[in-house]
Amino acid sequence: MEGLFIFILGLAIGSFLNVLIFRLPENKSILGFSRCRNCKERISWHDNIPVLSFLFLKGRCRSCKTKISWQYSLIELLTAFLFLFSFLTYRGNPLFLIYTLFLIGLFIVIAVIDLKHLIILDSLVLAGFIVSLSYFMLSAFYFVDSLYGLLFFAGMFLFIFLMSKGKWIGFGDVKLAAMLGFIFGLESSVSIFYLTFSVGFIYAIMLLTLKKADLKTEVPLGSLMSIVSIFFLLTGFDLFELINAELILRLWIN
Ligand SMILES: [Zn+2]
Repeated sequence: MEGLFIFILGLAIGSFLNVLIFRLPENKSILGFSRCRNCKERISWHDNIPVLSFLFLKGRCRSCKTKISWQYSLIELLTAFLFLFSFLTYRGNPLFLIYTLFLIGLFIVIAVIDLKHLIILDSLVLAGFIVSLSYFMLSAFYFVDSLYGLLFFAGMFLFIFLMSKGKWIGFGDVKLAAMLGFIFGLESSVSIFYLTFSVGFIYAIMLLTLKKADLKTEVPLGSLMSIVSIFFLLTGFDLFELINAELILRLWIN
C-alpha cells in the first residue's frame, strides 16, 4: 500500500521534473499552467494526469491534435519506478529516503537537460549543494569526507578541463563533479569517476564503430555521470568492495 503511494508520488514528481526539464533551459517560470507546445492552449488538470492522460488522448493534444512526446510519460514512469526502488531499499531510514528521492529527481533533470542541450545548469548544481549540506547537518553527518570527495572529483575534472583547454569536457562538468564529490565522499567519488569513464569510453567506441559519430561528437558526460550516480545511489556499488571481494575470492581459491 505504501509502495503504491510512493509510486503515484513518483509519477506526480516525474510530471514536475518534466516541467523543470522543459522550462529551466528556456529561462521560463516553473510556475503557471502547462500549455501545449504547439497551439499554446492551456492543458486542463484532467488532461495532465501522468501517463493516463497520454494514453486516454492517444498521445495527441486535445485541441490541435499535435503529437505529444512520449518522453513525458517515460520520465514519469522512470521516476515512479526509481522512487519505488528507493523506498524498498531505504524505508528503514526516512530522512535518508527523502534525501535519496531528492537526488534522484535532481539527477534525472540534470541528465535529460544535458542530453538535450549539452549544458549543466548552475541552479541545479547549487540546489544539490544546498540540500546536501542541509541533509548533512540534519543527520549530524561528519562531512569532512565530502570535502575530500569534492576536492578529488573537481580536481580530476579541472585537470582534464585545463589539459584539453576545455575541448574534452565543459566547465559545467567540473561543477557537477564538485557536487557529486561533495554528495558521495572520497571513496565513492573514485568509483563514480572510474565507472563514468569506463562507460563513456565504451559508449564512444560503440558510436565510432557504428559510424554514428566522429571524434568531434560530444559525449554528454553530465548525463552519464548522473545516470551512474543514480545507479550508485540505489545499489551502493562500491569499487573497493568489489576489488576486495575479488582478492578474497582469489586467496580462497588458492
Ligand atoms: Zn495543441
